[in-house]
Amino acid sequence: MQEKGKITVRGIVQGVGFRPFVYARACALGISGTVKNLGSEVEIFARGDNFEKFLVEVSRGPLLSRIDSVEVSGILQEIPDGFFILPSGTGSLTGMIPPDIAICDDCVGDIFNKGGRYRDYWATSCVNCGSRYSIVQEIPYDRERTSMAEFPPCPDCAREYGDPGCRRHHAQTIACSSCGPHLTLTDARGNKAEGLDPIKETAELLDTGNILAIRGVGGFHIACIEDTVDELKRRLGRIEQPLAIMVRPDYIGELACVSPEERQLLTSPVHPIVVLKKRDPTAHGTISSLHTIGCMLPYTGLHQLLFSRLKHPLLIMTSANMPGYPMITDIDQAMSKLNRDVDFFLTHDRKIVNRCDDSVMRDGYIIRLSRGIAPKRTAIALGNHCILGVGPELNANATIYRHGFTITSPHVGNVRNPPTLEYLQETVRNLQRLLGAKFDVVAHDLHPQFLSTRFAREIASDQGLELVPVQHHRAHIAATTSEPCIGIAIDGVGYGDDGTVWGCEIFSGQAPDLERVAHLDPSAMPGGDLATQFPERMLYGILPEQKVLSLLSGRGWSDVELGVLEKQVGSGFNVAQTTSTGRLLDAASALLGLCRERTYDGEPAMKLESAAAGGCAELWELKFTTRQGCEMLSGRSLIETAFGLIQMAGDGDSQAIRDIAASFQYNLARGIAHLALHAADREGMKQIALSGGVAYNCAIRETIRTEITEHHLGCIMNKDYPLGDGCVSFGQCVYAGKLLDRRD
Ligand SMILES: [Zn+2]
Ligand SMILES: [Zn+2]
Repeated sequence: MQEKGKITVRGIVQGVGFRPFVYARACALGISGTVKNLGSEVEIFARGDNFEKFLVEVSRGPLLSRIDSVEVSGILQEIPDGFFILPSGTGSLTGMIPPDIAICDDCVGDIFNKGGRYRDYWATSCVNCGSRYSIVQEIPYDRERTSMAEFPPCPDCAREYGDPGCRRHHAQTIACSSCGPHLTLTDARGNKAEGLDPIKETAELLDTGNILAIRGVGGFHIACIEDTVDELKRRLGRIEQPLAIMVRPDYIGELACVSPEERQLLTSPVHPIVVLKKRDPTAHGTISSLHTIGCMLPYTGLHQLLFSRLKHPLLIMTSANMPGYPMITDIDQAMSKLNRDVDFFLTHDRKIVNRCDDSVMRDGYIIRLSRGIAPKRTAIALGNHCILGVGPELNANATIYRHGFTITSPHVGNVRNPPTLEYLQETVRNLQRLLGAKFDVVAHDLHPQFLSTRFAREIASDQGLELVPVQHHRAHIAATTSEPCIGIAIDGVGYGDDGTVWGCEIFSGQAPDLERVAHLDPSAMPGGDLATQFPERMLYGILPEQKVLSLLSGRGWSDVELGVLEKQVGSGFNVAQTTSTGRLLDAASALLGLCRERTYDGEPAMKLESAAAGGCAELWELKFTTRQGCEMLSGRSLIETAFGLIQMAGDGDSQAIRDIAASFQYNLARGIAHLALHAADREGMKQIALSGGVAYNCAIRETIRTEITEHHLGCIMNKDYPLGDGCVSFGQCVYAGKLLDRRD
């Protein structure tokens, strides 16, 4: 029996090959009708004996699609024979275009296929892979609304685009060496290279020790071989910071331990940087002095071709930007900002519309939510308002909530300087345009001085919107779960309700009602931010005793410096109070002589973790007190125990240092878990949520998790968002949505 109807599919249905997929299924099942892209929905008119079967297959969608709903309605109109893809129209913008997708195996095959049309072509892609978010200007997602519009397809590409039997049927990014974007190799002054094969020349330049800026999918990388790392670090002024590498797939197992899950991530459509454990913790020390190393596999045709010509098995591939600043995307800007840091530039002439840094993952958790993952779309019911979350200050991004979905932008950076603030503003504008969103509410960090807070106030006053301030660590918990729970937020720093610097907080309740019930005991942060940069100051803040001054004196502190420090802590002048877990770890790292000055985000705590990885933990006694109804864990007691042990061991006993580092982390984690378990007991909670940047520390996270599960409670962590501050804009939206929903 012939059946007919209109099928509307909503979700991520653009840029994923949905129309050619529908076309192929229709042809296979003898269905007549049409398919049309309407922004974030696909409209299908269909008629045929296999209508039901067709509906089932369409509802599954192609590999990369995300389907929210499929609606079927009856129609009266006639449907002529045959199946056709119609030009795009406009409809409601509730979906989102997908993130950029790593080159697929079929396309890799094409670029190495001798005599094939795509042989050696760097920007080869198909409906299953290639650039998406980074090139889209407007939706519906069609070539004319992307930066591929400048490259009209040649007759061969046009034929494949129109051929239903081809993998590039309706592939908007289809291009070949005769019609698509091209590569140019220049020296630092912009003079073009003579040769005909820029990738081959690039490989030779890298192999012989040159440093190159390479324009990729979402911005520039700076690349060099391992032998050149010291020179690169000298030029960039980043001596200590670990750098990410791109590795030839057959070599990765030689330098790092790769679990099956990690291998799956490395080769997934995301192709993120995965932080792996080194096989030998001391190897590749110039790239990373830690026991871990951030690795990714080639994820574009350009990378594939480069590695096929390169003699070395790995390249340093670090984002071309100052730490915390936006990645450079523009060629002129790269030329003017990087010409002293790099020797040559390999660029392409396809405009990068939306900047997108590499995503970073560790142990299955997202550290940086960016290329391949963002824009990140999550179905969640947060009421009828349209909410913008502008994020915190560090590792910021933005999230928009509308009509049952949140969309989170790629990583923006540290919103501490005008260029990064501008990037945040631009990101919000772009997402707003792509979604057609009109905000009612702006959620922001409680900190009154953050640039992101000022930005929130500006939009609110310009557009007459409601402002919802959200305490940093409550945003962390709201990003983890909306269920009743005990929430543990272990973090660097966040502005607290009482104006002090929070960072190890236990909450009880359900977003937005999250009451602070326990925390670390507060310590002095002498000199404020200086205590973050020089963790020995923090050490004295936590343990203000003569023996610490003597230790620092032995390490070269002058009497004048020590006098100032002592006076600061004694008088409380220019001293903030903090409960930060990060600062306590910093102090331990300083005590053990692992890091005396922080030169990149998280350095002291990361060095402590690396030392601890080679140590053996023992049980220490924990001290708890209570103040104003909140239970507090004594960080000072942990530091004091470590101090005693290190003095017994004596200088230079590296195994003792590793053991004390391991014990410090283990007992701190036990203490934090106990605060949460005591609270769960008192409040009758069955689940404990865990978030915050310190939870990336494997030993601390797993100790807390073990303590929780041994007490037969559930441990909730959100693997879809960063544990660090990259989840805060999402958490702000959840918090504000729940708050307003209750009020309405
Ligand atoms: Zn492909
Ligand atoms: Zn072509």
